[in-house]
Amino acid sequence: MHGIHLARRSPCRRGCHIFMRMPVFVSILRHSLLVVLLGGGMLAARAEVTVDRLDNESATPGFKFPRVPLPRRGDAAAKAVFTIIDGEADRNGGGLEKLHDGALPANGDQPSGGFFFRQGSDGGRLLVDLGSVIEVRRINTYSWHRATRGPQVYRLYASDGKAAGFEPQPHRPADPAASGWKLLAEVDTRPKDGAPGGQYGVSISDPSGNLGAIRYLLFDLSRTEEADPFGNTFLDEIDVIDRHAPDAPEAPLPPPEERVEAAETEGGAYKFSVVTTDAPDLTDWVHRELVPVIQKWYPILVKMLPSEGFTAPQRFDIVFDPNYHGVAATGGTHIACDPTWYRQNLKTEALGSVVHELVHVIQQYGRRRPGGMRPPGWLVEGIPDYLRFYHYEPQIHGADIGPRGVERARYDGSYRVSANFLNWVVGKYDPDLIRELNAAMREGRYDEEIWKTRTGHALSELGEEWKKSLEAAAKPS
Ligand SMILES: [Zn+2]
Repeated sequence: MHGIHLARRSPCRRGCHIFMRMPVFVSILRHSLLVVLLGGGMLAARAEVTVDRLDNESATPGFKFPRVPLPRRGDAAAKAVFTIIDGEADRNGGGLEKLHDGALPANGDQPSGGFFFRQGSDGGRLLVDLGSVIEVRRINTYSWHRATRGPQVYRLYASDGKAAGFEPQPHRPADPAASGWKLLAEVDTRPKDGAPGGQYGVSISDPSGNLGAIRYLLFDLSRTEEADPFGNTFLDEIDVIDRHAPDAPEAPLPPPEERVEAAETEGGAYKFSVVTTDAPDLTDWVHRELVPVIQKWYPILVKMLPSEGFTAPQRFDIVFDPNYHGVAATGGTHIACDPTWYRQNLKTEALGSVVHELVHVIQQYGRRRPGGMRPPGWLVEGIPDYLRFYHYEPQIHGADIGPRGVERARYDGSYRVSANFLNWVVGKYDPDLIRELNAAMREGRYDEEIWKTRTGHALSELGEEWKKSLEAAAKPS
């Protein structure tokens, strides 16, 4: 439930991560010419499709490709009306407006920064109405994802809407070419070998500089794979360039804003920052809900976990990092949170899970004496969940064990099961148990004797007695 913790996240990973993000080299996939069937003389006979790809290490928020022009604002698609004709938007995406707002995602895993069709589905059809017929120089499409949602696979149809029998919304499986549309290009940027992740730019143009007179565009998007439900492209921007507009913008779009909230607890004893640059949609929640909880609870948790000569970290930071997958992990004084999980649990588990990580920041068990015993994992995780579920949010009963859970319950089951056990021992034998266990583990002097010393019973006996009490409580009366 809580992913990887503590020492397993080595500090060098962040260093490597920064190194990996430096521009390395640009890999170019292919550059293909497509011949397109044409009836009238209104549209170009040949659309040239240029595909550029930047792999995960080379991609930056600037979308700087070797040949495909930079994304821009204020192009002919900016004021166009976008409509889904077939398929369904994924609710984790940012909506159709993301495709023509001139804003780009900050990284290769930001669902809210672009648009994509619902997971598990096979894409869909998008209609773009430019509002009036214009002569089009280029159509550019941009996408970015670290894995299979990176590449673009689509057919692009165009029309001026004037043909007899023109159907403005041809649904699948109807062939749009049968109702007044022209197939302008077939795009498939999937690499033949190797991982598909990265940033893709596609530019559809005509050697004459004019693709023709166009009012409507129809994108028929397919998924990139069907081995799992995650094959729909994270499409970030569609630009339509008027023949009379400059071919390429002079400067890249500004990078996404840095979003860092710096805060401190009352009196300034503890300072912390929360970074949502790569998950801007969480900024407001962080400000309104998360920061106040940390300001109140970090000092309380520090007071509950004292030991001789110990000073709890006075600075720590929390980063909502799309490259971290799990729930959250703490290494030293750095907490990484998976934005996808937080979005899905914002109203339920989100705040409590950060309280759990704050306890890891305070534990600092890595400082044990040489030769000291390594603290058992179930206690390292049981104590944060005990403090979370029995002090921070007792009203949600998150560590209760119902009749169905009793049989499987073990005192060393970790997380909330161990929290339940700790709460029982605290109530029955030793109100100071948590403080004492924590101090012993932090100082590297924990061993099982401590249970006997504090309660008069061995750990295994306590485990059995606790289990009996659970069973008694679960019996129908
Ligand atoms: Zn944990």
